Amino acid sequence: MKSINKLLAVAVMAASAPLTVMTASAEDFNYVADHFADIEVLRYQVPDFDNLSLRQKKLVYYLTEAALSGRDILFDQNCKYNLKIRQTLEAIYRNYRGAADDKDFQAFTTYLKQVWFANGIHHHYSTDKFTPAFSREFFEKQVRAIPAAKLPLCDGQTAEGLIAELVPVIFDPTVLPKRVNQAEGADLIVTSANNFYEGVTQAEVENYYNALKDTTDLTPISYGLNSRVVKRDGKVTEDVYKIGGVYSAAISRICYYLDQAAKYAESEEQRRHINKLIEYYATGDLRLFDEYSILWARDTASKVDFINGFIESYGDPLGMKGSWESIVNFKNEAASHRTEVLSSNAQWFEDHSPVDPRFRKDVVKGVSAKVITAAILAGDSYPATPIGINLPNANWIRAAHGSKSVTIENITDAYDKASHGNGFNEEFVIDQPTRDLMDKYLFITDNLHTDLHECLGHGSGRLLPGVDPDALKAHGSTLEETRADLFALYYLADPKLIELGLLDNPEAYKAEYYKYMLNGMMTQLMRIEPGKDIEEAHMRNRKLIAEWAYDHGKKNKVVELKKIKGKTYLKINDYEKLRDLFGQLLREIQRIKSEGDYNAGRDLVEKYAVKVDQKLHREVLDRYARLNIAPYKGFVNPIYTPVLDGDGEIVDVKVTYGEGYIDQMLRYSRDYSPLTK
Ligand code: ZN
Repeated sequence: MKSINKLLAVAVMAASAPLTVMTASAEDFNYVADHFADIEVLRYQVPDFDNLSLRQKKLVYYLTEAALSGRDILFDQNCKYNLKIRQTLEAIYRNYRGAADDKDFQAFTTYLKQVWFANGIHHHYSTDKFTPAFSREFFEKQVRAIPAAKLPLCDGQTAEGLIAELVPVIFDPTVLPKRVNQAEGADLIVTSANNFYEGVTQAEVENYYNALKDTTDLTPISYGLNSRVVKRDGKVTEDVYKIGGVYSAAISRICYYLDQAAKYAESEEQRRHINKLIEYYATGDLRLFDEYSILWARDTASKVDFINGFIESYGDPLGMKGSWESIVNFKNEAASHRTEVLSSNAQWFEDHSPVDPRFRKDVVKGVSAKVITAAILAGDSYPATPIGINLPNANWIRAAHGSKSVTIENITDAYDKASHGNGFNEEFVIDQPTRDLMDKYLFITDNLHTDLHECLGHGSGRLLPGVDPDALKAHGSTLEETRADLFALYYLADPKLIELGLLDNPEAYKAEYYKYMLNGMMTQLMRIEPGKDIEEAHMRNRKLIAEWAYDHGKKNKVVELKKIKGKTYLKINDYEKLRDLFGQLLREIQRIKSEGDYNAGRDLVEKYAVKVDQKLHREVLDRYARLNIAPYKGFVNPIYTPVLDGDGEIVDVKVTYGEGYIDQMLRYSRDYSPLTK
């Protein structure tokens, strides 16, 4: 796993098979909130919120208010026209009096939904500018019909002036075409539409930061994380995000709610890092951000936790500027128990692994990752959200003070439930008994597979003395993921998991085995363009394992590809032999790693992990296309409502679901929009 691990849950999740673990309310809960363009908007539940103490509920409540207060910041960071466009589009939507089935109005509504989803006019994933399917005439006519007081006009601007300003930005495909341009050879700053830089070239930005950086500093600040670079009077300078600086109104409001939250902190330790975060927001001083990050990383005891700030830098082609985001969460005790059990038995797993004893670790320590329940998603984590987070990002802080790694299980659970019935399993899984097994056991075995991979797999095994850790070069990360996956697959079928109480059925592992082989050999191909090879390390690793096992089990027909009515299906005839094959390959991959056998590693990758069978690929793409599954997904949030007594004191906080996507977006724009007032 890379140091910055933000798993984007996009098509990956859609590709994995549906699963259902029934909870009491699962059947009544409406997981799908909306569906438009290439997007599906889902709902998630917050199980166990009602079991938090009143103090914890108040803490969560104020943190969610702090989270929602930053929404405008991200819109503005993504492109300087975004807030103005959002306000104009919302004014049109509210003021529209024509027919609901008017073609232009429907296309307009889709566009508005896309802009909300992407926090701006560029696609959240590809970062390409959206192409509106409504006419310019429709737009102009609607703007002219709105009373001037309801339009975002400033400095004496008229409705005509607003139209002239926004029409090229919305309708001309050559204006600001990409939010983050990574194309080699271009000036990445000038050609990117984000709002992190104004009037400066890439060379000017690089020179500016090179002059600031002290390369001998072992604890460097995250240069440029919280600022916009501008040119003023011919000089390059930074405008800092802080109270009294850029985004002051939003940051002040965030700090107000953080201050309220601090009163209900679970411990002195937690209160200290909340207060440190307020201090950093007030001053913009990045040294304070580091101090905050250290205090936060060390606070592993609090049940309620959150991130709130300028965190990930994917929105900046130079990888420095932090996009604003917030997630409020609390620990899922039952699921975290799983990772704790595995971690505390790490030595047993190491001692019984099928690898050559020379390559085992004498003393092994499992990594304890916690499982959390998200209470609110905001900024860069909303509506599209990661399913795992590993922070802080600064390498020296990670090395000296550790980091927190979490998976967000109520989000993965919602993906799984919502995908049930999308037709994926019916199309690709060979028969009903296999589908039933997956319905019953895939959610838990998939989670256990991830736990085993992260908590034990990567940490197992050792290099022989003198072997260069980078000996496998370009194939290193593929082979490392292969090793961790094989460790997980091998042990998923081990009776030890039943003995530890992590599974209740010795057949359960078959659900994950089937999905893994199906994905590795067939269904993951739906994310590859026709004619292309597989490049991404995790995709290569899955293909390597699946194809190797298929090939080496061929003689005994362990796994077959069967043609039924012209369609290809995966059939597993002997699950026990398949486990045996996983063990054999684990043994060989560990040998390659421990001895640094580059040639053997390269040969395995080239033979099994890269080349795509063109005919099978075409078939998978065709079958997948007919299912009409949205490739991107995101979420609406639940609503938290404080219950007050006669004196205005909060005596409880209620969580409710069911709000529609449009309703939520309009409500957020009305109630949480300090930068547009
Ligand atoms: Zn990994």
